[in-house]
Amino acid sequence: MPDGTRPLRLGRTAPRRRAVAPTSEAGWIDPFSRREIKRLVAEFGAPLLIVDCERVRRQYRLLRRALPRVDLHYALKPMPHPAVVNTILELGGWLDLATAGEVELVSRLGADPARCIHTHPIKRDVDIQAALARGVKVFVADNPDEVQKFQAYADQAELLLRVSFRSPGAVCDLSRKFGCDPEDLLQLARLAKRLGVPVRGLSFHVGSQAKDPGKHVEAIEACAALIAEARREKLGSFDTLDIGGGFPIDYGERAPQIQRFCAPIRAALATLPRRIRVIAEPGRFIVGPAAIGVASVMGRAKREGHWWYYLDDGLYGSYSGQLYDHARYPVEALVPDGERLPSVLAGPTCDSIDVIAENLMLPELKAGDLIVGRAMGAYTWASASEFNFFPKATVVSVNSVRGDTGTVMSIER
Ligand SMILES: *Cc1c(COP(=O)(O)O)cnc(C)c1O
Repeated sequence: MPDGTRPLRLGRTAPRRRAVAPTSEAGWIDPFSRREIKRLVAEFGAPLLIVDCERVRRQYRLLRRALPRVDLHYALKPMPHPAVVNTILELGGWLDLATAGEVELVSRLGADPARCIHTHPIKRDVDIQAALARGVKVFVADNPDEVQKFQAYADQAELLLRVSFRSPGAVCDLSRKFGCDPEDLLQLARLAKRLGVPVRGLSFHVGSQAKDPGKHVEAIEACAALIAEARREKLGSFDTLDIGGGFPIDYGERAPQIQRFCAPIRAALATLPRRIRVIAEPGRFIVGPAAIGVASVMGRAKREGHWWYYLDDGLYGSYSGQLYDHARYPVEALVPDGERLPSVLAGPTCDSIDVIAENLMLPELKAGDLIVGRAMGAYTWASASEFNFFPKATVVSVNSVRGDTGTVMSIER
């Protein structure tokens, strides 16, 4: 995770428009079709991460429909890319920021700071100041030291107190590292009141890629009780509940449909007093299915009877999520089908851990052939490195507007 304190330079080239009509009737192209993938690689080279803004819109709307009356703050962390941020802003969405670098990025894009919250529970004074200077005023805190840091900014900042609900069922349990015990919450709220720091409400994050909605429901019920108690004690306005992220997507394994996943969450939210504004911080759900990775074969070798294919992207690049995020991306070869042989897909670096998949049944490939990884929008490019000087995949966004057949924005940190 970059610390996000270095300045960020953003350049932008105008969307390229083609003279020929795009493929779909509505004016959007499908950049995940074979033809468009090949066209994009011919134009921009490999490896690519192709982000489809139209799929970002689709995901956002799906979650809006599954959680009506919940304001969705897109969490930048899984894919901090301007094309995604712009798409969310154009939809009237909100943003969830965690570092000074993310604050910087969205302010350069003209985001209204009133639509942003800063949710990193542990911040340096410079991080708080950088966010305040950009107009972001809602922060998360989960312990007395952190609340104390806001005494100096009591007239400018407001807090959400993050509560921890352990979630051993989630693929990534985020309540181990952050959040205060529910039993300690009122004490923390009393401290904030003593210091004059306004508390707007509570937040939680049950963990990413949740298996079922049980933890969300349990957390909503516990928070409702804590909010009622805090209001009785007049500890602050407590008019906001932030239900975090965790909404799951399909990888090799299918996730529950989002409408069905959210049904018990809707039911739990319906029991809250109407004055409570509910917000969420979805990251993965918005962007995961909206991007694919495209790598090309650099070379091959037959080892112990099996083909090894060496790609220009791997575990130190876009496939880093297979390590950090415990994800497995469905991969396929973009070649005519032939006899399938057990094969190994390896990344480009000289490290032996850099293997994407073994025992994969693939037609025989040759240098230049393309390998496509699906559901690669979240926690992939964001956590990629340039180990061994293999550059990260170029991010091409498509469908930012009708007729946008592929745009590369330079993001220099
Ligand atoms: C990572 C993170 C998110 C996004 O979570 P998803 O499971 O990707 O939706 C939201 N909020 C916070 C505080 C996070 O750290």
